[in-house]
Amino acid sequence: MRATVMYAAHDVRVETVPDPRIVEPTDALVRVTRACICGSDLWPYNSMPASETGNRMGHEFIGLVEAVGSDVHAVKKGDLVVAPFAWSDGTCEFCQQGLQTSCIHGGWWGGTELDGGQGEAVRVPLADGTLFVLPVGPDDALMPSLLTLSDVMGTGHHAALRAQVGPGRIAAVVGDGAVGLCGVIAARRLGAEQIVMLGRHADRIALARKFGATDVVSERGDAAIERVRELTGGLGAHAVLECVGHGEAMRTAVGIARAGGAVGRVGVPQEPTIPSAQPSFYDNITIAGGPAPVRAYMQELLPDVLEGRIEPGLVFDRVTHIDGVPDGYRAMNDRESIKVMIKF
Ligand SMILES: [Zn+2]
Repeated sequence: MRATVMYAAHDVRVETVPDPRIVEPTDALVRVTRACICGSDLWPYNSMPASETGNRMGHEFIGLVEAVGSDVHAVKKGDLVVAPFAWSDGTCEFCQQGLQTSCIHGGWWGGTELDGGQGEAVRVPLADGTLFVLPVGPDDALMPSLLTLSDVMGTGHHAALRAQVGPGRIAAVVGDGAVGLCGVIAARRLGAEQIVMLGRHADRIALARKFGATDVVSERGDAAIERVRELTGGLGAHAVLECVGHGEAMRTAVGIARAGGAVGRVGVPQEPTIPSAQPSFYDNITIAGGPAPVRAYMQELLPDVLEGRIEPGLVFDRVTHIDGVPDGYRAMNDRESIKVMIKF
């Protein structure tokens, strides 16, 4: 089969790799019908040291189950399934708490040991706990939005929950990538009264407004903090969604949070410590967040997608075949594209 392999920063190739097969009785074999490139794939795209073996890429996909192991009972051949960006058993202490990203037996797609989503097929470990069956056909018009349940919509939702968004609250979103945009959807869905989007790109701002952002702040650093404070009666936002991960974004997030507020962070941290420890301490700001347990949110978000109340699939502004994946990375890295969908 053909699959995406990253060998070094800016070196992404599509290659022929061994066909996956059932190894463990808890495995399923999924033929991928839709996948995508993630903003988090851009971190290694800009920093990965050269590797001789390369890393298989992709952690967001929808596909058809082609075969299951003898100990798989929740999915069957022919099911259309969406995979969360981490696989999990669904039964351990943490899975039962809805924290599947900390599953005792789970793990992450791709790398050197496992298939990634940006390929024609995937061996799925712990299929019963991992895969979520979709009640539609593989070419349903809702495919883009359903695909976001594998990561960005669930991640935006997690940021909003950890930031304690609720009815009547003021939310602010740092980061205008696909996750930040889904964070706007999530904040509105959870009842935020005012939603401030911090972003600069015209196409992303337009989408943020469509998704429910009431205000847009395009300044950076201290000027952005000042502007958000002006927009929030001088006090700052109750709920800040940090959807970038680098230190400056976190400093901005803490700077625009009001005393007693919360920052929900889902951007992969690029620094070993949390910036703005002292300001967040003196203002009693809760800092929370981590990898989103998107598997836990699929059941809750699915009806809103199926019934058209939310349309997170609009974050996809480019579609490619697998051979176009390397250029898709380039386009997202150059901010030519918000998010690229791969159609098989
Ligand atoms: Zn588990």
